[in-house]
Amino acid sequence: MSTRGKPRVLLMHPFLEPGPTILNEAAEVVTYPPGQPLDEASIRQAAEGCVGIVSQLMDPIRETVLSTPGLKAVSNVAVGFDNIDVAAATANKVMITNTPGVLDDATADFAFTLLMTAARRIVEADSFTRSGQFRGWAIDMMLGADIFGATLGIIGIGRIGRGVAHRAKGFNMRVLYYDPYPLPPEAEQSLGATRVDLNRLLAESDFISVHTPLTQDTQHLLSTPQFTAMKRTAILVNTSRGPVVDEAALVQALQAKLIAGAGMDVYEREPAVHPGLLAMPNVVLAPHIASATVRTRSEMSAMAARNMATAVRGGRPPNLVNPEVKK
Ligand code: NAD
Repeated sequence: MSTRGKPRVLLMHPFLEPGPTILNEAAEVVTYPPGQPLDEASIRQAAEGCVGIVSQLMDPIRETVLSTPGLKAVSNVAVGFDNIDVAAATANKVMITNTPGVLDDATADFAFTLLMTAARRIVEADSFTRSGQFRGWAIDMMLGADIFGATLGIIGIGRIGRGVAHRAKGFNMRVLYYDPYPLPPEAEQSLGATRVDLNRLLAESDFISVHTPLTQDTQHLLSTPQFTAMKRTAILVNTSRGPVVDEAALVQALQAKLIAGAGMDVYEREPAVHPGLLAMPNVVLAPHIASATVRTRSEMSAMAARNMATAVRGGRPPNLVNPEVKK
């Protein structure tokens, strides 16, 4: 508790309005010292005396941080929370919250953007045109892959995966999905999506888009055996989390032409990107911006602030990831 009476909350990084306004009404906000490394010991030191932390996906929030005396809640400004050890949080009775739902459309739009950009070689075409190499129409220039009517394989058909399936309908795509949990039959029917095992999805899809959370089960879900099983013409899109794809194996698969291309928003060791990917014209690379629209990032900020405001006022935040902590 601060001397001014309001509970103290550590804000790890600036976020967007109305997040700061909502948070300031509920708490005394202390900001993480700029330039301080994002390691657990430094975060713990900054969190001393705080009941809450508003974190982002690059902040490691594990036992060292979660055992800070008096810490009650961590509000992550993201739907994914693989940067947080939820079991350790639960053991320390710390509530963890995330921002589901508000970023589904922006992220699904972006997965489709990467798919189309890679399929139709837009990045290559843009630099070709800018650099003055366009000297006239040619029948074999910049040939790409058809999207309309192609087969799309969706790995993980949660909120965002379903959004991608919805968009695929407009392109008359055949949609296959792989997920441990089947969609209800009505949803399968309305999305026109067929549940298959992973091997069939890999073998039959022209495009594969990944939408699982990062967990122990999904780490390197796609590696050399899976790339080998894909069509030689397949294009992989990853807007989930970097480590779901074995990046070194992806580079090898692209170099060996086991698959045709990729659209990547996330990387195994962000912000580092495998140099092999940087060298490939058939790979589209984005700097983790799938949810980056003005409205979405603002809504994520508001939701994260409301989650924290509710927690510091003693309530049960709406987006509690570990509900067993607050009955
Ligand atoms: P969600 O929980 O609604 O859906 C995830 C789906 O993956 C679920 O249907 C789940 O059953 C499925 N799944 C879990 N393990 C699986 C496995 N081993 N194989 C296949 N499917 C599996 O989550 P969501 O809101 O759709 O978000 C998905 C992920 O996308 C988030 O966890 C986050 O990491 C990532 N994300 C990234 C960005 C970005 O900026 N690039 C933005 C939003 C979300």
